[in-house]
Amino acid sequence: MSTELLSNYIGGRWVGGQGAGTALFDPVLGTELVRVDATGLDLSGGFEFARVRGATALRALTYRQRGELLSAVVQVLQKNRDTYYEIATANSGTVKNDSSVDIDGAIYTLSTFAKLAAQLPDSDFLPDGDAISLAKDGSFQSKHLLTPVAGLALFINAFNFPAWGLWEKAAPALLSGVPVVIKPATSTAWLTHRMVQDVVDAAVLPAGALSVVCGSSAGLLDALQPFDVLSFTGSADTAATIRSHAAITRLSVRANIEADSINSAVLLPGHAPGSAAFDLFIKELSREMTVKSGQKCTAIRRAFVPEQVLPAVSEALIERLKRTTIGNPRNETVRMGSLVSRSQLNSVLEGIEMLATGAELLLDGRRPTLVDADAAVACCVAPTLFSLPTADAVEASTIVHDTEVFGPVATLLPYRELTQSARQVQRGLGSLVVSLYGDDPAALAGTAKALAPFHGRVHIVTPDAGASQTGHGNVMPQSLHGGPGRAGGGEELGGLRALNFYHRRVAIQAAPAVISAF
Ligand code: NAP
Repeated sequence: MSTELLSNYIGGRWVGGQGAGTALFDPVLGTELVRVDATGLDLSGGFEFARVRGATALRALTYRQRGELLSAVVQVLQKNRDTYYEIATANSGTVKNDSSVDIDGAIYTLSTFAKLAAQLPDSDFLPDGDAISLAKDGSFQSKHLLTPVAGLALFINAFNFPAWGLWEKAAPALLSGVPVVIKPATSTAWLTHRMVQDVVDAAVLPAGALSVVCGSSAGLLDALQPFDVLSFTGSADTAATIRSHAAITRLSVRANIEADSINSAVLLPGHAPGSAAFDLFIKELSREMTVKSGQKCTAIRRAFVPEQVLPAVSEALIERLKRTTIGNPRNETVRMGSLVSRSQLNSVLEGIEMLATGAELLLDGRRPTLVDADAAVACCVAPTLFSLPTADAVEASTIVHDTEVFGPVATLLPYRELTQSARQVQRGLGSLVVSLYGDDPAALAGTAKALAPFHGRVHIVTPDAGASQTGHGNVMPQSLHGGPGRAGGGEELGGLRALNFYHRRVAIQAAPAVISAF
């Protein structure tokens, strides 16, 4: 019996694809769950519906009124939360805590933007600075405004955050008055689809404000027009293809790219085993490797430690990682579920092979003992740890600075001096986040400043914030997400800064009486 073919919601109605569909699977049990298909959709017509109907209705509201729409979406999602957990367990193979990062992270981000709306003016544009006189007698002035972009926002998302990935982008877009079309990654599209379906069924957003296309991305970029914006999250290879599309190169569609990132953590010198900073470092590293089986764009891939503590760090970390129970997320004793698909499993196994050609394998997770799951079927990998023996080897290596294995995999990299570790961190060529562990504010601030130009976020963990710190890999809506260089050069979130992407800045030049009429 074939599984349900999910419809697409575009042009204000549910439309099935004309093909047989691509199946989505349970990565633990191997069973087929649903199918998606986007063949034969009228994308141009659907996009126009969003630009005209969706945008007109959204722009008729003020920022504060749109904040109320976000609150209404939050209520819908909260009501259906249990279903989202079931879908995440089935389609992403995640344990409850890991599903929460995605689902509750999405709801929290939306709520944060709903609250931030109260800080915005009760109007339909945002002021940007004061009026400046352009005439000696002040009779002619210039004032900058931010107006919502005139088109729609197309989101092409990665497989690892089907819930959060939608709403962390949609919250600032809708708050700005910009309609949204979401194209989730195929392998985990079901959760995104269900959330859109619940919001559509609840009729809390105007027609055309939210559309979903599940299946192939073919034709999506061709349907973009000059005043649309595109936000992409995924691999560097797909990002390169997207960047070369005529929508970007010829129509100047504004694009935000969030791509690969070889993030780092640095234990500062002078923290012996048993010290608070040392313990926080081990705990965070182990957490980052195992949460969502390491399938987080922000996860720590390179962990820098002073040469003399390398043996103690590897011993403490391995001891902790070995305690991770892996397998079927439906079993309450399991702490880490599976990767999202067989193709991700293959890609992680290939990545481990590749890293093994240039680094020493300290803990090999390729043949894990599983709880309640068949190792021949379940796409599980246990935590896998590599290291290089000396600081000189770290300088000589290329592979550890270049390879993102998108699973529970990290490499320990020794350094002799802090300045040397900072140079090696930079060899990631731009990352989303680096975290620093220590207790000397001056040394931490100095290192943070040196690393700031190469990162979107510098996360500093000191013993006094050990319990309250929000986590190296957790993306908080109040803080910037994105990174320069290899990380894609994008910027998301950062509180109300997120609205910049969905607005255009315009200079109004006029007499003071006209300027004050705005
Ligand atoms: P991917 O293969 O690049 O796919 C990302 C999205 O692009 C999917 O929706 C995919 O659709 C779509 N796509 C594929 N080819 C396309 C094309 N030619 N034109 C337009 N869209 C196309 O990436 P992934 O495997 O899903 O995600 C893993 C990567 O994402 C990792 O490298 C990770 O570092 C990165 N990531 C980054 C962030 C961040 O915030 N920086 C967050 C999460 C993940 P289909 O699924 O239908 O192929």
